[in-house]
Order: sequence, then C-alpha cells, then structure tokens
Amino acid sequence: MPFSDQIAPLRFEALAERIADATPAQVEIALSRERPGPGDLAALVSPAAVPSLQIIKERAGAITTQRFGRVVNLYAPLYLSNRCTNHCAYCGFTSGSDIERSDLSVEEAVENASILVEEGFRHVLLVTGEDPGRYGVDDIEKVVTAIGGMFHSISIEVFPMTADDYARLERAGVDGLTLYQETYDPGCYASMHPAGPKRDFAGRLEAVERGGGAGFRTLGIGALLGLAPWRCEAVAIAAHALHLSRRFWRSRIAVSFPRIVPAGRGFDPPCPVMDDEFVHMMAALRLVLPDAEFVVSTREPAALRDRLVGLAVTRMSAGSKTAPGAYVTRGAGEQFCVVDDRTPAEVADMLVRQGYDPVWKDFDRTLRG
Ligand code: SF4
Repeated sequence: MPFSDQIAPLRFEALAERIADATPAQVEIALSRERPGPGDLAALVSPAAVPSLQIIKERAGAITTQRFGRVVNLYAPLYLSNRCTNHCAYCGFTSGSDIERSDLSVEEAVENASILVEEGFRHVLLVTGEDPGRYGVDDIEKVVTAIGGMFHSISIEVFPMTADDYARLERAGVDGLTLYQETYDPGCYASMHPAGPKRDFAGRLEAVERGGGAGFRTLGIGALLGLAPWRCEAVAIAAHALHLSRRFWRSRIAVSFPRIVPAGRGFDPPCPVMDDEFVHMMAALRLVLPDAEFVVSTREPAALRDRLVGLAVTRMSAGSKTAPGAYVTRGAGEQFCVVDDRTPAEVADMLVRQGYDPVWKDFDRTLRG
C-alpha cells in the first residue's frame, strides 16, 4: 500500500491530541525500551518529554555515533533553475514573484560545479524549481552527464517525475533523490499550495516511491518546519521513513530538517519552531530512526549547527548559494537566505575542532553501476 493511503488515517487533529495527552509514564516506558518504536514517538516528542530531553539527547548522540561514527558528510547545492509554476506561499521561487528568473546552460553549470570541486565537494545536490516545460528532465540529464566525472555522488531536488524519467536520470548518474512533502497535514498542505501541480498531496508522496522504484541509493524526505505543528510532523516523518525503508530496503533514507527562513518577499511561519524544539524533534526522531541520515542545511545559524554535531546530524551543506549561477556570478533570484554563511573550509574546521571527520566523499561513482 503506498504511503499516501496510509497517511489518510493519520489525522493531525487527533494526533495533536494524542501528543498533548501523553504522560510522563508513557515517556518513561518509551525510554525503557532498547529501541523505541514509532508508537512511542508521540510520547517522545510530547511536552511531557521535555523534562527528559537531556536523556533523549544523550541517547540520540550515542546512537548516531554508534551507527555513523564521528563523521559528518558535506555537500553543496547547485541551483540550475529558479523557474517555477507553483504558488507555494513560503518560497522565494513562487510563481508570480518578481525575482529575476534564470537557468544555467550546461557550460555555466560546469563552471559553477568546478568551484564546488575546488572547495573540496564530491557530493552535489542539483536543485531546480518546478517548471519542467522550461527546464526539464532533458536539461538535468545533460548537466548530470557533463559533471558526472567531477563528483562521486549526485543527488537531485527537482520536480516530481515519472518512473521512466527517474530511471533515466539514475542511469545517467544520479544516485540520490530528495523530495520534501513540505507538510504531512493535508489541510495545511492545501492552504500553502493554492495553485499549480504541487497541489496534489498524494501525487507528491507517490513520486518518492517512483524514485525508490528507480533504484536511487538515497531517498530524501522532510517537512518544511514552521508550516504545521512540529510534533505532528515528526510522527508523520517517522512513519514515512519507516515505510520507505521497508519498501525500498536497498536505499538509504535521509531526513532533512529545513526550517523556514524568510525569502525576500517575507513569510511568517504559522507554527514557528524554536531552537530547543528543533533539537528535541531531531533527537527524538533519532531514537526511532537509528539508521537514517539526518541532514541540516545552511538555513540554520552556525551556533545551532555546531550544537547538532554529535546529536543526530550526519550530513550538512556548507558554503551554499541558493540562486542559479551564484558560485560564479552575483546570482540573482535566491530561494532563501543562507544563515550559516561560513565557507566550506570553516565548516570543516569546526567539525575537526569537535573531534569529527568532515567527509567529502562517502561513495564512489564507479559503484553507480
Ligand atoms: S518550494 Fe519548490 S515548488 Fe514551491 S515555489 Fe519553491 S521551488 Fe517552486
């Protein structure tokens, strides 16, 4: 059964009540288990768990170290196009916004990619808006082919595709797919996506499964934190991740934790997530998803990113630019403002100071098959 069918009974109102009603005794039971299950997560993220947060954080840190070692993978996004036909209320690329629109030619993409290689990156995340009629799978495939020899891992965060198109990109050299659901609350989803193909809540969930069927090595999911209550999103993310890991057991599941950062047009998140809540969410999820990659971007401030090392994070972006071409030129039309603006070398130094190895390459392109 696809996850879009499974999530229907996960009504956010009922879930919020269950979380609010969780008791310290339920938290204690969850923490008494060697491996808490998804049924424990409502208690672990609840307000009743706040007095136990230190214990949750310590267990999360121990699990992360045991499963991943003292390493953090580094990657960089490479924005190829900022055109978009969707109307997401929170995004700088939203259709109708007056930002300067552009696409990178293959030559420009290679030029920008060369900067990332010089900085040390061997894992790149190709990002576009969602306007496949103007920047589509053919364009992405050409870039993947052109930069294939420069990186050991190429992921995409683009528009939902057919199974055939995902398979085509996988053959071209893409090994990771990221597609955020943005929010798992269908009501909130509808209000945040008033027009455009992204209105299709179930269709977006199903696209990740098509990516799993295409054989991507990594399947990345996440909610945009700030849209709906984070405690409910955490429970839904865990259910989604566990579903994908069961169905696509050869793929590694990656969970990203993007928090809303205002783009130029401004957007007030209806359910803002405070730093301590962000940490709570990540730590509680680690107890239930011990093997998932946890990804934190440069949307977060440096001091918080530093705190997350050793807690649950296993992958970080660094030195990010969020407009097409911005590694080489001024790059107009950014998706969101980068908050941690340290250079990749500075982020790597921070990791070393904390006793962690910055990993620029955790896969070899010869293994792409
Ligand atoms: S979030 Fe994605 S789909 Fe929505 S406006 Fe931004 S780029 Fe387009």
